[in-house]
Amino acid sequence: MSSCIFCKILAGEIPAAKIYEDDVVLAFLDIGPISDGHTLMMPRQHIETLHDCPSDILGQICSRLGKIAGAVAKAMNSDGYNVLCNNGGAAGQVVEHLHFHIIPRKTGDKLFHHWPSYKYRQGQTEDIVTSIKKNL
Ligand code: 5GP
Ligand code: ZN
Repeated sequence: MSSCIFCKILAGEIPAAKIYEDDVVLAFLDIGPISDGHTLMMPRQHIETLHDCPSDILGQICSRLGKIAGAVAKAMNSDGYNVLCNNGGAAGQVVEHLHFHIIPRKTGDKLFHHWPSYKYRQGQTEDIVTSIKKNL
């Protein structure tokens, strides 16, 4: 897709700090990291979101994700890491080419510190489960 910045990286039109590439994926450093080693992994094919991704390609991405995440975490001497996939603008997706963030973490780094959880009201769980099942 000609206007997509990640497709331009894949085409070699703009530079990137590449970590790993093969015929299915490219992993490279995020230009605006939130921790050292913050990595993005994307399919070569321009696919916008996780639910648009054909299952065979998603399987191929995931089969590589653990190896790349483990290497990033080990290299950064991290205590853990997050794998994050933003889908849609409301969820923070800015680049509309499917990608997974691998974010190395240190104990006490306070990234994603506030997780605003709450409790469902009575009956709401059943309604939500029913609604999701209808859409499977
Ligand atoms: P999103 O919010 O879409 O999940 O994340 C997009 C990510 O891509 C951001 O973290 C941003 O820093 C990164 N990014 C945007 N443009 C470029 C670029 O040209 N090169 C690299 N390496 N990363 C980019
Ligand atoms: Zn693209």
